[in-house]
Amino acid sequence: MKPKRILILGGTTEARELITKISLIPRFEVINSLAGCTRRPVIMWENTRLGGFGGIPGLKHYLEQQQIDILVDATHPFAAQISENAAIAATQLRIPHLMLVRPVWEKTPEDQWIEVTSNQAAAMVLPGLAQRVFLTIGRQELATYAYIKDVWFLMRMIDPPLASTAVPAGKLILERGPFTLKEEKALLETYAIGAIVSKNSGGEATMGKIIAAREAKIPVVMVQRPGIPQGEKVSDIGKAISWLESL
Ligand code: NAP
Repeated sequence: MKPKRILILGGTTEARELITKISLIPRFEVINSLAGCTRRPVIMWENTRLGGFGGIPGLKHYLEQQQIDILVDATHPFAAQISENAAIAATQLRIPHLMLVRPVWEKTPEDQWIEVTSNQAAAMVLPGLAQRVFLTIGRQELATYAYIKDVWFLMRMIDPPLASTAVPAGKLILERGPFTLKEEKALLETYAIGAIVSKNSGGEATMGKIIAAREAKIPVVMVQRPGIPQGEKVSDIGKAISWLESL
């Protein structure tokens, strides 16, 4: 029997783990898709394509041309555009479509979170909250914070900001996770950090900073997730495999 072709929209730890597991199932054939927005993408699967599709029309064209049978969206919870495009393209082409959505980090009574809905809102609460802030929102929305003059920022991201980006005052650290709790505690201490700005990404790989903030009793300005398209969703890899096997 001809294997079913699955396109995995990836760029996350979960996508890599999912691909490893699916590759062991002979009746599936996997193609991994990465946006190609980092300088050294993690390409762990031979059958990987790189770069945007060209919006919904481009994605539909690719799905048809490559005779994709199943579309799995295992992108980051903040990658809202590609998730929306995937949901629309799959619905229009009537291709089975699954979203692998990792659970959010839940606030505990020991946490001091200030929950906001956007980076703009996060930037507004910072003045007066702390003088030294660990900004862990990646590089795309750095400019949102550049107008804040009385805060020093420690900014961590995978690749440096584009030359055209207005960068807030402070220090850049170029690193790719995961980060351990020990490393995150040391970072907060070394740079005398008084508050963290984080997206509510969920997952283990970057949770260390949230626990470190809890233990150091410093506030976290937590940017909430964008909305998720309607459609079938699972919260872990095991459930994603079960869903695929049920097709
Ligand atoms: P986004 O805003 O949702 O997507 C922007 C555009 O990038 C999409 O319209 C699409 O271009 C292209 N794209 C995104 N993911 C793609 C994929 N897996 N394969 C092919 N094209 C893709 O996404 P983003 O927030 O820039 O994130 C880009 C990638 O980085 C995602 O794959 C995501 O999983 C990963 N990532 C994101 C974050 C984050 O915080 N946003 C964190 C970790 C990893 P076209 O419209 O031309 O098709």
